[in-house]
Amino acid sequence: MAHLSPLIRQATPVLAARGEGVYLYDEGGRAYLDFTAGIGVTSTGHCHPRVVEATRRQVATLIHGQFTTVKHKPLLTLVERLGEVLPPGLDSVFFANSGSEAVEAALRLARQATGRTNVVVFHGSFHGRTIGAASMTTSGTKFRAGFAPIMGGVTVAPFPYAYRYGWDEATAVRFALRELDYILATISAPRETAAFVIEPVLGEGGYVPAPKAFLEGLRERADAHGILLVVDEVQTGFGRTGKYWGHQHAAIRPDVIVTAKGIASGFPLSAMAASAELMSKAWPGSQGGTYGANAVACAAAIATLDVIRDENLVENSAVMGARLLEGARRIAAKHARIGDVRGLGLMVGSEFVLPDGNPDPAAAQRAQSFATERGLLLLLCGAWGQVVRMIPALVVDAKQVDEALAIWAESVRDALA
Ligand code: PMP
Repeated sequence: MAHLSPLIRQATPVLAARGEGVYLYDEGGRAYLDFTAGIGVTSTGHCHPRVVEATRRQVATLIHGQFTTVKHKPLLTLVERLGEVLPPGLDSVFFANSGSEAVEAALRLARQATGRTNVVVFHGSFHGRTIGAASMTTSGTKFRAGFAPIMGGVTVAPFPYAYRYGWDEATAVRFALRELDYILATISAPRETAAFVIEPVLGEGGYVPAPKAFLEGLRERADAHGILLVVDEVQTGFGRTGKYWGHQHAAIRPDVIVTAKGIASGFPLSAMAASAELMSKAWPGSQGGTYGANAVACAAAIATLDVIRDENLVENSAVMGARLLEGARRIAAKHARIGDVRGLGLMVGSEFVLPDGNPDPAAAQRAQSFATERGLLLLLCGAWGQVVRMIPALVVDAKQVDEALAIWAESVRDALA
């Protein structure tokens, strides 16, 4: 008898039957407050009526308008609409289906456009599961172990994860930038380095926002050496952090943006944006794909952009994110075993530690499981699975945030009893 492969490990035992807004319902009709949002994908909420309507119409009109064969209207409209929200100058857009593919696209573009082979990535980052993206991923060995040989040309530089180093943020930033300079002088020569690739907030690596001064330091070094700055906004894009793009919390302009997840409310779509000048340095036809810019996914993305704009979801993300962060900090203040609570917008992580300060994934797991039993869905992240993350849809309201926090307080209490 066929069965689902054990390669897939599920975070909860829930059998999802239906989704609506911030709620998932199981086959028995039980409601769960979904603070996972399909790992940060369903930002407009499950089955937003405007997304449902737009995709229903598109399905009946054209499902697959293969984008290396023909253009189609949803694709052209989406490009135009993305132009309204992308940073000025990053107006040349390529599409794929998943975050990993978009990261690979950026890697190809960076190598072709610069003629350089190497990339520098930052410790704790997650960039995807394809071999190229996995080679750039250091958020946990489960994403790399046993897959060798992985791709060469990748150097891992420190990320200023102040809490884990036991330093203040300024010290962590100084250390990380100094180490980066050391790497450029000793391992990956600037003339061989095509790109720095960075997440504005470490996602799978533990919900650690990249300090503003660090991102600005990367930009300076990229400018000084002709290295491209690629921001991986797969998890942080489309309002997730309380600004349209996560990197906009710092005064930087990236050379390439890679994004996916929140772009199309759950339909598979990802994108890479750069200047037309940079894109023109790569070879026409060197990138493509059968399913990129699927017409239904593009229609979903256009509706998603409409909803984000019309329902002020970027602002809501900032306001609700601040409420969630503050509430999670209040709860942590009662428990020494939650060593750090941090985040940006609606990405909030609580890090569990043992009395000696080492990571405590078992406590994080217990807290997550107790929350599931009480009807709140959460995910773990961090190298050891020691961080519980909250990443609800951007449509979440104050009542739902407070309800989640009440369940979280009880779950933490029981997990640490
Ligand atoms: N980059 C980041 C920052 C991500 O969070 C993820 C997914 N968690 C990816 C890349 C890979 O995306 P996908 O799973 O769609 O391939």
